[in-house]
Amino acid sequence: MKDWSRMNSKEKLSIMETNDEHAQVFDVLRDSEIRYRRLFESAKDGILLLDAITGQITDANPFLINLLGYSHIEMLGKKLWEIGMFKDSDVSQKAFQELREKKYIRYDELPLQTKQGANIEVEFVSNVYLVNGKKVIQCNIRDISERKIASDHLQKVNKELSDLVSELQNRDREMKLINKMNDLLQSCKTLEEAYQVIGMSSTDLFNGQNGGLAILHDSGQYLETTSVWGNEKILESVFKLDDCWAMRRGGQHEVTDIHANMICQHFTHPPIIGYLCFPMVVQGETLGLFYQETPSGLTLDQTLNWKQKALTVAEGIKISLSNLRLRELMHRQANHDPLTGLFNRRYLDDTLPRELNHARRKNDPISVAMLDIDHFKKFNDTFGHEAGDLILREIGHVFKESLRKSDIACRYGGEEFVIVLFDSTQKESKKRFEKIREQISTLQIRYREQLLGRMTVSIGIVEATDNTLTAEELVAAADKALYAAKRAGRDCIIAFSDLESDLE
Ligand code: GH3
Ligand code: MG
Ligand code: MG
Repeated sequence: MKDWSRMNSKEKLSIMETNDEHAQVFDVLRDSEIRYRRLFESAKDGILLLDAITGQITDANPFLINLLGYSHIEMLGKKLWEIGMFKDSDVSQKAFQELREKKYIRYDELPLQTKQGANIEVEFVSNVYLVNGKKVIQCNIRDISERKIASDHLQKVNKELSDLVSELQNRDREMKLINKMNDLLQSCKTLEEAYQVIGMSSTDLFNGQNGGLAILHDSGQYLETTSVWGNEKILESVFKLDDCWAMRRGGQHEVTDIHANMICQHFTHPPIIGYLCFPMVVQGETLGLFYQETPSGLTLDQTLNWKQKALTVAEGIKISLSNLRLRELMHRQANHDPLTGLFNRRYLDDTLPRELNHARRKNDPISVAMLDIDHFKKFNDTFGHEAGDLILREIGHVFKESLRKSDIACRYGGEEFVIVLFDSTQKESKKRFEKIREQISTLQIRYREQLLGRMTVSIGIVEATDNTLTAEELVAAADKALYAAKRAGRDCIIAFSDLESDLE
């Protein structure tokens, strides 16, 4: 450069202007450095500067120092993976290689450990740039622990909410199934139908988990299994009351631990999970037993729900069965004679017209007979009314033994009986009644150690298929034939058709 004294004024002016510009640039640079430093010092995120070649920490801002708990001195000059803030140094070294190779890296949820050993979640962003020809990696580290806790909490609350919704949907479905079962049970006409409904509905309700229903036999001595459900039916088909702890104690018996609780004896093989036995008692009268397994792996709440469901189902079954039994009993009482157990006159009056129509439509023979015990009054007078009752029961027993299930035997009144034989012509009926007449005449009935003596019956019969008599007229016709049998000397059978020819 030329000596200042040799320069002309134009040259001197040009140099002065250049120096001024340098000073200005220097000022701008210094201001920018101060601004960056201020930002670095006051930032609310951690900033870490690394030497991109060695991985050594060249600077860390106060926020990061505070966040991680390492002092400035502890960090400076150390390599990223040497200060232990990254849990796994192998991973950190690999991560550093990546930081170096890529210009920009972002981790949304990076786990870091503070010097005090606390785990924090951070959002991590790195940039690579040149300072004075040297590669520098700047890492911006934001503490998202609280945000993470809040979002985890939100996720948990959401899960609880969706669990609750599905639980409610499940219960709604179960309530619908229970209502449907109760509705079906209300429409059942017989106990047999009810047992079928219970078996099928419970399979759905208890998701294939084993269960069953056993009903106390009329004798009160044992239980008979009437419905079973589940994948493996382990309830015995017949068992004693004492085999069940619930029946013994007269209250529900719950087995939660098969190794620690008393196990009932009514299984074909020992149960492998917990179960509940519930005695079904209505107004002091024991109906039977409801048994249901509890699935394993349920939470306490779910177990309580399951148990509640089982008890609700058992309660519904109990009420329906009790109603049905009452209905069957009332029906039986309305149609049966309590002394002999045969049908009564009311049943005959209800049934005969229908059966008559049916047989005539099919052109099937049908016969009606009326029987009356001969000189019954004499038995009553000689041996007493109780002995007379015994005779009526014994004769009822003969009918039950010698008639077909489809035939109708009814006590028409006093010591008179009406019997309807289906699919039986007059000739066949006469043959069958001959046998019955003979059987009765050879009965040896003992009342209080005393033989009651020979008793006989007179019988009038009529065949109904090919005439137009009503049910009432038919019974009257049989009665006429019976009257004729009495007049003919008793202990005999007379057919109405024989009478008609007599009357002509
Ligand atoms: P017949 O050969 O003419 O039929 O003579 P009978 O004595 O059998 O006929 P009667 O009609 O004179 O008597 C029927 C008797 O049956 C009168 C009545 O006291 C008796 N009787 C009716 N119902 C019952 C009952 O439920 N138990 C008893 N022990 N006797 C009854
Ligand atoms: Mg009579
Ligand atoms: Mg009589």
